[in-house]
Amino acid sequence: MHQKKGVAILGSTGSIGTQALEVIAAYPDYFDLQVITAQSNAELLIQQALQFQPNAVVIADERHYETVKNALFSEDIHVYAGADALCQVVEFSDVHVVLTALVGYAGLKPTLAAIAAGKDLALANKETLVVAGELVTQRAKEKGINIYPVDSEHSAIFQCLVGEFHNPLEKIYLTASGGPFRGWTTEQLKTVTPAQALKHPNWTMGAKITIDSASLMNKGLEVIEAKWLFNLKPEQIDVIVHPQSIVHSLVQFVDGSMKAQMGLPDMKLPIQFALTYPDRFPTTFPRFNFLDYPSLTFEPADRKTFGNLDLAYQAMEFGGTKACALNASNEVAVEAFLTEKIGFLDLARINATTMEKTGFIAKPSYEDYVAVDAEARRIAASLCQ
Ligand code: NAD
Ligand code: MG
Repeated sequence: MHQKKGVAILGSTGSIGTQALEVIAAYPDYFDLQVITAQSNAELLIQQALQFQPNAVVIADERHYETVKNALFSEDIHVYAGADALCQVVEFSDVHVVLTALVGYAGLKPTLAAIAAGKDLALANKETLVVAGELVTQRAKEKGINIYPVDSEHSAIFQCLVGEFHNPLEKIYLTASGGPFRGWTTEQLKTVTPAQALKHPNWTMGAKITIDSASLMNKGLEVIEAKWLFNLKPEQIDVIVHPQSIVHSLVQFVDGSMKAQMGLPDMKLPIQFALTYPDRFPTTFPRFNFLDYPSLTFEPADRKTFGNLDLAYQAMEFGGTKACALNASNEVAVEAFLTEKIGFLDLARINATTMEKTGFIAKPSYEDYVAVDAEARRIAASLCQ
């Protein structure tokens, strides 16, 4: 009998994490869930632990440690707390792949720990590649580990490349839904509320990525993510708005041939493919029906109204710590928008100013990224006052 694939899910209580558990539950003979972690949702983490009986759980917010520990007292499950524990559990010998489904810069340290321990990554946490893509991909290469993309656009490109990894790409097109405010004017965007921005037309996701989708920051982060995952130059990455979210992205080869990956929007598919590659496992997910979508449409992104996309291109072209500063600013600004301290249009404005004001390091070390992230957070926070 083959050895089961040992999986650690960082962020098991989130949108990606809970869908990953559905995938794992469907294939108990193939997967062996070793580790699950959460920031502060102790109740759901406990419920998941009781159902899946992992080897270990981590609650990152230490205030909930007693609750989790007491609830799992009679189970054969190790309970840890604190951010540092995330870096330790990914090293367990029975973990073969680490699904990074936590949100934001917090993913960087455990991702580097997983790479150092020689574990493959199923990467959902795009912010890690935005912040430190050069360092992460360099260390992954040195260790010979694989990074399987979970983000639907990057999974689409990865799926188009299967059997073609040796063939040079001319360019890629990342598709974007355009979010809930596609076609809106600056005037209309002035009064947008968090509740409006949290209503995505095609996907149900965590709050941070949903706001990023509405402000086009998500597509900007994905452009940078694609650069590092597929080793592309900025001019090889294009964005096209496709409101139906059926074509998940496209590649164009040097002979002009284009391939697209299609399907109904459902993150379980890219999550599953990242965990079962190179194999495809049968699913009962709803199938795409052409007649439900008689027309698939494409249009340019409105980069003038939604400034974040251009900021991401600028950061990518600049290199060094520019994208790290942009990401830190955006995390602070999104939080401020969600708590109604700033308006929707302030997001891109604050990001532009923070990027400009934060110190720049062309060849950063890990410590440099940590310092730039902290500096950009301070600047962005002062701009949110
Ligand atoms: P979410 O907010 O629903 O879940 C985040 C998870 O991470 C939760 O389990 C939470 O407890 C944990 N977490 C949050 N902050 C943490 C911290 N500081 N330390 C440790 N754990 C922490 O987010 P999500 O929508 O599932 O997104 C997760 C990642 O996947 C993001 O980087 C996002 O951009 C990416 N992604 C998500 C989707 C999607 O459909 N949701 C699609 C593509 C990519
Ligand atoms: Mg995406």
